Amino acid sequence: MARRARPMGHCARCSRACWKDADDFRSWNGTVDKGVLVALICPQCQSPEEHTEAEVGEAVLDYANAVPDAQGRPIVPLRLDPSTDHTH
Ligand SMILES: [Zn+2]
Repeated sequence: MARRARPMGHCARCSRACWKDADDFRSWNGTVDKGVLVALICPQCQSPEEHTEAEVGEAVLDYANAVPDAQGRPIVPLRLDPSTDHTH
C-alpha cells in the first residue's frame, strides 16, 4: 500500500514524519489545542509519563480521522464531543 505524500506532521524532537498508517501511529503523542493538532512526539522521544498521556489522548481523540484545515494543520475530531453544536 502506497504511503500518502503528506504525513500527519513531524516529531517535535527528532523531526521524524508521522504517518497515520504506520504500525506505531497509536503510540505517537499529540498535543491538541482547541481541536487543532499543534505538536507531535514520536514513541522513541516520549518519556514514560508522556507515553501514558499518549494512551489517554488516543482514547479521546480520533487522530485517524484528522483532516487538515486551511493552514494545513490537522484538525483532530474528539471521539467524545461535549460541545456538539445545535446552534447553526
Ligand atoms: Zn522523535
